[in-house]
Amino acid sequence: MTKQLSVAIIDSNPALSSGLCIKKEDPPDPRVSTVTPASISFLQEAGAWKYVEQNRHAYFKKMQVWDYTGFGYARYDAGDVNKDFLGCVAENKVLHSSLLSCIKDSDFKTTFYPSRLTSMTLNTNSMSVVEENTPSKEPSPAQGHASKLELSDGSSIYAKLVVGADGGKSRVRELAGFKTTGWNYSQNAIICTVEHTSANHCAWQRFLPNGPIALLPMGENFSNIVWTMSPTESNDRKSITEEMFLKDVNSALDYGYGPHPTSSSLGARDIFSWLKMDGTLSANEPFEIPPKAIRLASERMVFPLSLRHANSYATKRVVLIGDAAHTIHPLAGQGVNLGFGDAYSLSRVIAEGIALGSDIGEVNLLKKYEQERKPANVTMMAILDGFQKAYSIDFGPFNFLRGAAFSGANFVSPLKRSIISYASGERKLPIFF
Ligand SMILES: Cc1cc2nc3c(=O)[nH]c(=O)nc-3n(C[C@H](O)[C@H](O)[C@H](O)COP(=O)(O)OP(=O)(O)OC[C@H]3O[C@@H](n4cnc5c(N)ncnc54)[C@H](O)[C@@H]3O)c2cc1C
Repeated sequence: MTKQLSVAIIDSNPALSSGLCIKKEDPPDPRVSTVTPASISFLQEAGAWKYVEQNRHAYFKKMQVWDYTGFGYARYDAGDVNKDFLGCVAENKVLHSSLLSCIKDSDFKTTFYPSRLTSMTLNTNSMSVVEENTPSKEPSPAQGHASKLELSDGSSIYAKLVVGADGGKSRVRELAGFKTTGWNYSQNAIICTVEHTSANHCAWQRFLPNGPIALLPMGENFSNIVWTMSPTESNDRKSITEEMFLKDVNSALDYGYGPHPTSSSLGARDIFSWLKMDGTLSANEPFEIPPKAIRLASERMVFPLSLRHANSYATKRVVLIGDAAHTIHPLAGQGVNLGFGDAYSLSRVIAEGIALGSDIGEVNLLKKYEQERKPANVTMMAILDGFQKAYSIDFGPFNFLRGAAFSGANFVSPLKRSIISYASGERKLPIFF
């Protein structure tokens, strides 16, 4: 239905013009995404996932989450919900090149503009969609009603609909006058790729006093580190020697900051046994120590963390998706997955508009997308912000309660299954019922 549209992709990332050619021997990208089963289905349907599978990637079946107090831990297994995997970690450059290959395969009229959007003039008059393909370089009579985008290379484009997918500092959002609500966490994430002596097959996350550290499998003998800490600590850890950094990483994932939890911490197994019902596979798994990092396989990068949400996602001729609409804490690896959810929803709304003969830039149509996505995005943001705050408190009785929550999530099977389903991208909320 949408084949009649022509699409312009404007991105100032220089990799777009070079075609993002990936070679097997290239060093791993320090930027990775944990892609949920729901996003994998979307990318399969779009025709991009087969390209991800041709490059380095790692499906993972198991996950272990614990904290530094030693009060509790939770193990998750895809088998708990009769699935083959909990998610897949792919390098961002692999996701980008796979999506580009998929676009090149398609019948869409797509033009790439490796350039920066500098200004935008919105024309909010209604127009007929029947005879005009957008975007184009020259204004035609009907495009007199379209929005005009000006790029840093001096070119101009006219479009019926501008999709702002330009990240947390979205220029489209700013130029279209969308207001946002949010705050900066006084935390940075330091990310990098490390190597082990053998392959890692599990996703590990330990909550430390200043933020969580995650060790995510990437395929071959590589794992990615996403470590949240105070800005001062992150600046120090970015510049210390490789040897000192690896020592810090290995300590943070082992005995550093506090003891290992055991399944008998808090007598959790007994406390929750009455709620256990039909147990999950992973409830009896013992705590494991993550594999050691032996080498730094990429540069270290530092990102300031914030929460930001656009008060509205749609106005006439402009719509926001991905981080342009919502930026969240990376502690659960959900950011890009919310963006894929937005893309899926918007594509269906546009197809529906075309089927009905509507103007695809019409606000009433675009609001359908906003109504579908806003509740899902706000819910995820609230849950992750709650987690961030709960793990920022270091206070005896609260630490005990947090340990109890870990044990509940480990031993109470219906709760555990619903947490896995929600984190996999299913709509159901992780509550006990
Ligand atoms: C440390 C860290 C770890 C993360 N880990 C995960 C994870 O494991 N799983 C997960 O799901 N999410 C993760 N995220 C979140 C995820 O990276 C983001 O949600 C995701 O990248 C957002 O995608 P996006 O396309 O909306 O924006 P971006 O990835 O920011 O892309 C925006 C694009 O717009 C282009 N652009 C910007 N301005 C302009 C302009 N004026 N003109 C032209 N082009 C422009 C940029 O070049 C860029 O290509 C993590 C985030 C951080 C900070």
